[in-house]
Amino acid sequence: MTGLAPDGGLLLPENIPDVSNELSWWQQLRYNDLAEQVMSRFFEMTPELQALISPSYATFRNAEVAPVVSWDGEPLHVMELFHGPTLAFKDVALQWLGNLFEYILEKQDSHLNIVGATSGDTGSAAIHGVRGKPRINIFIMHPQGRTSPVQERQMTTVLDENVFNLAVEGTFDDCQAIVKEMLGDVQLHRRYNLGAVNSINWARVLAQVVYYFYGVFRVQERTGAPAVDVTVPTGNFGDIFAGYVAMRMGLPIHRLVLAANDNNILERFFTTGEYRRGTVRPTLSPSMDIQIASNFERYLYYRTGCDAQKTAGLMREFASTGSIRMNDGDPAFAAGSAGMDETLGAIRWMKQRYDYIPDPHTAVGIHVARQQLVTDIPMLCLATAHPAKFPDAISQALDDVRAAHPLIDALEGLPVRCETMPADAAAVRRYVIDHAQTGSV
Ligand SMILES: *Cc1c(COP(=O)(O)O)cnc(C)c1O
Repeated sequence: MTGLAPDGGLLLPENIPDVSNELSWWQQLRYNDLAEQVMSRFFEMTPELQALISPSYATFRNAEVAPVVSWDGEPLHVMELFHGPTLAFKDVALQWLGNLFEYILEKQDSHLNIVGATSGDTGSAAIHGVRGKPRINIFIMHPQGRTSPVQERQMTTVLDENVFNLAVEGTFDDCQAIVKEMLGDVQLHRRYNLGAVNSINWARVLAQVVYYFYGVFRVQERTGAPAVDVTVPTGNFGDIFAGYVAMRMGLPIHRLVLAANDNNILERFFTTGEYRRGTVRPTLSPSMDIQIASNFERYLYYRTGCDAQKTAGLMREFASTGSIRMNDGDPAFAAGSAGMDETLGAIRWMKQRYDYIPDPHTAVGIHVARQQLVTDIPMLCLATAHPAKFPDAISQALDDVRAAHPLIDALEGLPVRCETMPADAAAVRRYVIDHAQTGSV
């Protein structure tokens, strides 16, 4: 249930299974059955755990869960990961994680108080993952008035008793600092069984490994290609790291193409070898506006030949100097980035060429994918959000287009529940203590 090991490092499975011999029959499986197979290579799949999979994906509005859209004879393919309740790919992991946590808590007869900060997508996906679960309370802080109206409504219209939205009078960094302080308080942490659902949770990564198999299989079926390139719009390196795990399991991914926005620390790493901290700049793709990618440490472990000491040394060096350098490149990765004009241009290009509207995060990927296309290797682009989540960017790119989705239209005018709080750790702490679960139910 945690991503962080007691020594401060990130947890990883002891080894990554080689499934090369399973690929031909896995290709025949429906999404849920594929999820069961992939996951059962990492933990013992009991009937109870198996039973959590199908309800987790029954909340998706597409029976395939992660459908792949292709166009006749065209090299680009798009895997839509946005059919879950909050219309972003984070639902794929968090719908399952909510059910998994509930199952574990029931077995342990215990409870969990999740605290988190969000600038948008993560908070709403986490809330929708655990809403109505009797053993879990969730407290999500967002900077008041600074998340998009759609994202705010996706959180505050959830009225379940176990969901607490806190609008903090401050910035996202203020919210994060408060969360950090609370999670770092050992006594508070133990007394209230505090938890986080951030992207360093290994189970979250694992759930994402599944759709790489699903998507590559679909492209192979349609093209007959022996291997596929996959482009991933990247922020915290969680999603693309799942692709890297799939690749190490033997899935024929030719290259993982990392797509960044103006906050391109990871692009710079994969093109120059230098990983250097910068300052965060706001973009049209806010869920990728990060400078320090929390899952990157996991990649470094494999990059150093599975040397935990070396990995820890590099992380320490980065923490103290703000940069690290690695000399030879990694042929498993390519990387590129898209600025604002290129992102808007990619939205226009997709609309014109395929009559398809990508959200701005997906558009960053499309721009980079087109630059990285090579002959005879199809390119699978991950579509990480539905365009209706970011209507302003869409209308900026396409004058008279209003990106809409019935789920989002339905939020208009609904009652909301949200507590406004000063950006003061003591006040938030008091609120959480007053509303936390403290015993078994
Ligand atoms: C979170 C998010 C990303 C970035 O994913 P990481 O796993 O952090 O790299 C990209 N696009 C959207 C829409 C997101 O919500």
